[in-house]
Amino acid sequence: MSKGTKKNILVVGSGIIGLCSASYLLKDGHSVTIVERDPLGDSASCGNAGAIAATEIVPFALPGLWKDVPGWLLDPLGPLSLRLTYLPKFLPWLYLFLKSSSHQQVEKTASAMSAYLKNAFDDYAPLLGEAGLQSLLKTEGSLTVYKSEKGREKDSYYWDLTRRNGIEAHNLSRSEILEREPQLGELAKCGVYTPRWGHFANPADLIKGLAEQFTRNGGTYITDELEHIEHQDSHPASARTKGGQNIAFDQLVVCAGAWSARLAKKLGDHFPLDTERGYNTTLPTPGVSLNNMVLFAEDKFVATPMSMGLRIGGAVEFAGIEAEPNYKRCDALLTLAKNYMPNLNGTGGTKWMGRRPSTPDSAPVISQSSHHSNVHYAFGHGHLGITGGAVTGRSIADLVAGRPTDFDLTPFRIDRFN
Ligand SMILES: Cc1cc2nc3c(=O)[nH]c(=O)nc-3n(C[C@H](O)[C@H](O)[C@H](O)COP(=O)(O)OP(=O)(O)OC[C@H]3O[C@@H](n4cnc5c(N)ncnc54)[C@H](O)[C@@H]3O)c2cc1C
Repeated sequence: MSKGTKKNILVVGSGIIGLCSASYLLKDGHSVTIVERDPLGDSASCGNAGAIAATEIVPFALPGLWKDVPGWLLDPLGPLSLRLTYLPKFLPWLYLFLKSSSHQQVEKTASAMSAYLKNAFDDYAPLLGEAGLQSLLKTEGSLTVYKSEKGREKDSYYWDLTRRNGIEAHNLSRSEILEREPQLGELAKCGVYTPRWGHFANPADLIKGLAEQFTRNGGTYITDELEHIEHQDSHPASARTKGGQNIAFDQLVVCAGAWSARLAKKLGDHFPLDTERGYNTTLPTPGVSLNNMVLFAEDKFVATPMSMGLRIGGAVEFAGIEAEPNYKRCDALLTLAKNYMPNLNGTGGTKWMGRRPSTPDSAPVISQSSHHSNVHYAFGHGHLGITGGAVTGRSIADLVAGRPTDFDLTPFRIDRFN
């Protein structure tokens, strides 16, 4: 890289998106600093289900989905909850979510997500190889199970759209399910196997390993909270932290997860980001062992075999960023899991809540700012931050370098809801 193109870049946030972006920016020869508020290990990126769900290209807002919502909200074990005090703040996001659920928009988003996730595995390869983290990645595919053929038929539009975008998905009978997962009980009647799926055996180790490699490669890591952005000649030029540090930069990359929209607002960019809070429990001695990651379609939870036990998680809770966790949701998920795995030992687990930074159309923001050419955004990855982390990181490096990206970034722009 020539001297003139080498920049001082400040990346806000060291979740999976910040770390992948910072790592790819370092590869381009830039001088990169990460500023991260919390101790490593606290972010959504550390406690999640670990999937590289490269087949999950269909957005959540599907045509007709609204019909299921009242039933889910009324069910105490249901997959969706909304704290009533949060309703007024939630309505504008809900409006855009429902607007995104038209057939035309869903088809467009699925096609954009398919192009985005095409390199989900390949773009991790150099990062994992360099950091010696390859053994964390399991690439055995995933199994989605249904309680009835009727349940699978209800999802036929989802699977049809997935297949139409070139993704392999094989229908399985109960006996074929049991060949893959002999420890599933009576409730699993049929399913779908998707080979292009993997998972990290410990997402927290992934984050720690990438952060260590970032500093070994010459990156600077600051633990502090970015509070203010100062301008020079009407462009953002330095950041002031809560701890009183002043960090000058040529380029700023905002990867602050659920907190990103607040920072974007300070820079004049308004984006409808909300937080889908999710829960899980990691069982150290589950009494059941799974070979694949298993998704339980009708009850909307997943089980991931991890290095430290079996992680049972899911749920979507809209309550804002700051509300206290409601760990009863972890208990509800374990109750559901026991229905499918009668031998499950639900004791001794570690409960966790994380904040998915979610957009109304389920597509992330990977974009230059609408106002400042030296500001880029990478946030809003919702349920797919681990999945798309490396692709987003590489795309951010392309944007900063002014290189063309290998897929169209228009559907990922920050101003798409304006
Ligand atoms: C229950 C659950 C299961 C999930 N399972 C999966 C899965 O299987 N596969 C998948 O792909 N995704 C999954 N996800 C989603 C995934 O975890 C997120 O999409 C991803 O972690 C988001 O990464 P991020 O880097 O954008 O945000 P984060 O991981 O939240 O990182 C953002 C960081 O920015 C920091 N920050 C914020 N503001 C500031 C500031 N002002 N100054 C300094 N630092 C700041 C925060 O401290 C934080 O560490 C799951 C999520 C949940 C909740």
